[in-house]
Amino acid sequence: MPRAAPSHRPAFLAAMNRQARAEAEARRPGARRRGYDTEFQREAAAYLKAHPTCTCGRPAVLVRHKISIRRRPDLRMDPANWLPGCQSCNAKDTWRDRKKEG
Ligand SMILES: [Zn+2]
Repeated sequence: MPRAAPSHRPAFLAAMNRQARAEAEARRPGARRRGYDTEFQREAAAYLKAHPTCTCGRPAVLVRHKISIRRRPDLRMDPANWLPGCQSCNAKDTWRDRKKEG
């Protein structure tokens, strides 16, 4: 006897849509006005107080992302994806990520 096709969507599709939404959200120009960046700045300042030294030994002045937020914007606010950084190391990260992403 014929069976109806399952109506639920596969879990991986739902997960992909969630990431696509997060990426679109991160690209929205209104993000700063919605307080997203203010929240990040506040969390980042607290993080740098607790982790004042870059991985190279220089004073940390910014938060770097272990996994580029261009690839995983959903990990932007996740301290598990953060590293204390100096301008020089951050520039190297950015350069390396650009090369990797083509
Ligand atoms: Zn450094």
